[in-house]
Amino acid sequence: GPAPESSTEALQWLSDKGGIAGHYINGKWGALRDDFASNNPATGERLAGVTKGTTDEVNEAVKAARKAQPTWAKDGHKRARVLYAIARLMQKHARLLAVVEVLDNGKPIREARDIDVPLAIRHFYHHAGFAQLMDDELPNREALGVCGQIIPWNFPLLMLAWKIAPALAMGNTVVLKPAEYTSLSAMVFADICTQAGVPPGVVNIVTGDGDTGAALVNAEVDKIAFTGSTAVGRIIREQTAGTGKALSLELGGKSPYIVFDDADIDSAVEGLVDAIWFNQGQVCCAGSRLLVQETIADTFYAKLKTRMAGLRIGNPLDKCIDIGAIVDPAQLAQITKMVSENTDGETYQTAAPDGCFYPPTLITGLSPASSLMQEEIFGPVLAATTFRTPSEAVEIANNTRYGLAASVWSENINLALDIAPKLAAGIVWINGTNMMDAAAGFGGVRESGFGREGGWEGLSGYTKPKTSTKPVKPIAA
Ligand code: NAD
Repeated sequence: GPAPESSTEALQWLSDKGGIAGHYINGKWGALRDDFASNNPATGERLAGVTKGTTDEVNEAVKAARKAQPTWAKDGHKRARVLYAIARLMQKHARLLAVVEVLDNGKPIREARDIDVPLAIRHFYHHAGFAQLMDDELPNREALGVCGQIIPWNFPLLMLAWKIAPALAMGNTVVLKPAEYTSLSAMVFADICTQAGVPPGVVNIVTGDGDTGAALVNAEVDKIAFTGSTAVGRIIREQTAGTGKALSLELGGKSPYIVFDDADIDSAVEGLVDAIWFNQGQVCCAGSRLLVQETIADTFYAKLKTRMAGLRIGNPLDKCIDIGAIVDPAQLAQITKMVSENTDGETYQTAAPDGCFYPPTLITGLSPASSLMQEEIFGPVLAATTFRTPSEAVEIANNTRYGLAASVWSENINLALDIAPKLAAGIVWINGTNMMDAAAGFGGVRESGFGREGGWEGLSGYTKPKTSTKPVKPIAA
């Protein structure tokens, strides 16, 4: 196969930065301290030190964002030009972004290169278009002000794009905190902001851990946009209650993948590879619960096991690799614990190399109440059970506290369209999975949170209604 992607440029970029990830405040690099390490999970090697943002530093960033916001909100055409410039520069630096993401997160280069980075760029292009249409397309709405944004480590650059692009388009300024394991692509992005002519204070990035995140939640912001675990989402909702801060929560999931006996089995098997083994299963909308109709279960499991045996796991910089490293040894320990403590069902696992890797795993015959069917594992582990009738499929699918996504596989479109509205999920994919686009709203129900990212809903989530009358302005040339 092709040679592994070289990490030379990315490592040089990091060392040019002094090997420390830190704050980007008011258009300048702020404090840079080696408070904790960011490691390459595939090798265990240290990549950089990371600055743990203090309350004072968070407040300084919020102050810069507050000062910049009124001017930024004034001119939609200027916002569009800046967002287009960001998108173009991300394209120019796509390779660096992809390799930095792989080194920091452990995901396969094929995914970073073909999915994370292009989708992040697409988010900026899409929202650039809306920046100058805001007055016409969203009349009587105005920017919220300063948005605090907190993101997880599974899609560091893509989650950053989902947060920053719509907020900026609608005239807000932002303070974003990346996850502690994965701050590095946000540093490349900060450099891109400078090159793109983002005015000082419009985009601020403060690195750190949960304490830094909590400081941001408590700072003088107008909205907190959070993507992460349900447990932390609950804390943030409590902390913002009664403050008047807007809130969106994109939380965990245990999404069902329902295969009926008339499904195109080969496509459904291939879709499942994407649903549960994409990004090592560290995906909020992962199809982590397989519900397969009893009559085809044996055939389906046999085909699935054959496909699993063909998945290549190892060096994430190798372009042939399907499954990379788990983000951190602590996450690996958590996955290992959850699987090893389970006594239900039958486990099938392929092999994994030594180090921070976990093999693709299928556990069949689980009872719907078992912990592996109920708890988010956030790893490459598929929990499976069977059903007899469509109504039983719906009942098992909805037997969860989550409600992010669902996949339905059937060649009978009437059946699929009958099932879809009955599923407690923010997104239902028919004969597909992980279909996402900047123009489509993404988000959950129940304990998967509320608020949508992308689409109209995502845009309006960064505005507030204002009942006033004003003439509709023509689009600036
Ligand atoms: P996490 O909740 O531990 O951390 C997420 C972010 O919150 C990090 O930046 C972290 O530093 C910060 N944080 C931690 N404690 C905080 C606090 N008390 N106050 C403010 N910020 C705090 O989640 P994680 O382990 O990084 O990510 C995995 C979780 O994210 C999974 O549950 C996954 O399903 C979810 N997720 C959801 C979506 C979605 O769109 N619904 C997308 C990706 C990931």
